Amino acid sequence: MQNIFTKDRFLGSLLGLAVGDALGAPIEFEKRDSYIPVTNYRAGGPFDLKVGQWTDDTSLALCIGSSLLEKKSFDALDIIKRFHQWFREGYMSCTGNCFDIGNTTKAALLRFEEHSDLYSGAPTDPATNGSIMRLAPIPLFYFHNVEKTLFYAGESSRITHAPIECIDACRVLALFIHRALHGYSKSDILKYKKEDMLVCSSIEEILLGSYQKKSRDEISAKGLATTCLEAALWSFYQTDNFNDGVLLAANLGEDSDTTAAVFGQLAGAFYGVKNITPHFLEGLWDKKLIETMGNDLYKKVNPYFYEGVNPTVDLIIINPLNEILLIKRSLTSEACPGMMAFPGGFIDSSALEGSFWIDGLENPKSAALRELKEETNLKLESFVELQLVGEFEGNNRDPRDNSISWSKTHAFFYRIGDKTYLSQKDFIRGMDDADEAKWIPITEAQQMNLAFDHNSILEKALVLAQTFK
Ligand SMILES: [Mg+2]
Repeated sequence: MQNIFTKDRFLGSLLGLAVGDALGAPIEFEKRDSYIPVTNYRAGGPFDLKVGQWTDDTSLALCIGSSLLEKKSFDALDIIKRFHQWFREGYMSCTGNCFDIGNTTKAALLRFEEHSDLYSGAPTDPATNGSIMRLAPIPLFYFHNVEKTLFYAGESSRITHAPIECIDACRVLALFIHRALHGYSKSDILKYKKEDMLVCSSIEEILLGSYQKKSRDEISAKGLATTCLEAALWSFYQTDNFNDGVLLAANLGEDSDTTAAVFGQLAGAFYGVKNITPHFLEGLWDKKLIETMGNDLYKKVNPYFYEGVNPTVDLIIINPLNEILLIKRSLTSEACPGMMAFPGGFIDSSALEGSFWIDGLENPKSAALRELKEETNLKLESFVELQLVGEFEGNNRDPRDNSISWSKTHAFFYRIGDKTYLSQKDFIRGMDDADEAKWIPITEAQQMNLAFDHNSILEKALVLAQTFK
C-alpha cells in the first residue's frame, strides 16, 4: 500500500485543482499545439495573468469550500450568494475581480439576480464544464459518506449547471475523488459497475472506458462536461504521476485550465500533495489560502487531528466501593515521576494505519481502553459506553520544571460493575510506564496532588458520575 496520508490527499486534491488551473490559464482558448507547450507557470494569456495566478475554476471551488466550512453543511443559497459575490465583487479572486466567467455560470447568476432561485441552472443550458471544474470541496467535506458525496455533487452542479450531463459528470468525478481519498488503487478508482450509480448514456460511455482506447487526437478539450471529464480521466489513465498528467491535460489546449483543474482534483487526491512537484506548489498564487482551506476541510472530517498538539486520553474508572483507579508513574518516566495519575496516554498515530481513523489516528475511546489495559492490566469490553468528561487543553505540565507540553486530552469516565470489578481487581498492576496501579477512595484522591490537570478533571468527572449512579 502506498504510504500517503489522507491529509496529503486532501491538500493534493484542492491544490491539484488550483495548480492545473494556473498551468492551463495562459493558453486557455488556444488551438491545440499552436503554442509553446506548457511546462511551468507563465504570465500572460487571455486574461493577462501574473505567473501562478488561477481563474474561475479555483475561485468557485474556494466559494464552495468556504461555504461548507462556515455553514457546516451544504447550503445552496449560501453557495450561490458567494458565487454572486465573486461575479460582482471579485470574492475569492486572485486579482480582486471576476475576469473569467463561463456563459452558463453567467446566465445562472444573472437569473439569480432576477429571481433569487437557489438552483439557477436551466436544463436547457449548454452542458458545459463549469460545475465539474469547482467540485473538489464536496467529496472532501463528505469524506465519510459516499451517498452524500454523490448527492451533493449533483446538487452543487444544479446551482448553475442543470443539464443531466453536468450533474452526472460531477457525481462521477466525486465518486472517483472519494475513492482516491480513501486510498483505492487507480484501477479500483476507475472501476464501474452499473449498480454503483445510474448515469446518462454519454457519461456511461466514459465510465465504460471510452477514454482508455482513445488517442490524443480523439480527446476533446472544448469545454463540455462530458468531454472534459473524459479528457481528465484520459490524462489520469495515460500517466503515472501528477506532474506529467497535469501537463498532458493542460497541453490539450482550448479549455486547458479546466481540463487540468479537473485532472488535478482527482490526481492530487490520488498521488497526494507530496507528489506534486515543489515548484508547482511554491509558484502557485495565494497557495496559503488554498492550503489552509484543505487543512480546515481535513480537520472537519478528522476531529481528533490537532495540528501541533499531542492528542491524549484519560480514563477515570470508579468501582462499586466508590474508589477510583489511579496509577503511579514510573520513576524513570519522562513526565510526572512518582505522581498519581489516571490510566491514560497518547492517541496512537500509527496503530491503525489505513483504517477509518485517518492516518492511524485512533478514536479517543479505543485509545482510552487500550491505554487502560497497557497501564493497569484491567480489561473492559471494547464496546463499553464511556462517558466523555470533556476536552482539556495544554495540560501536560511537567512538575520537575513546570514546563508545559501542549496537548489536547479527551477524558472519559466509566463506572465499573460489581462483577467486572470482583473478577479483575486482583489482576491490576502497574504496567508500561507505570510502577503501580491501585484503587483509592475518591475522597482521598481529591486531597492528593494528582499529575497533570487531573484534580480538575476528577472534579468534572465526579459531577458527571452523579448522573450515572
Ligand atoms: Mg477558468
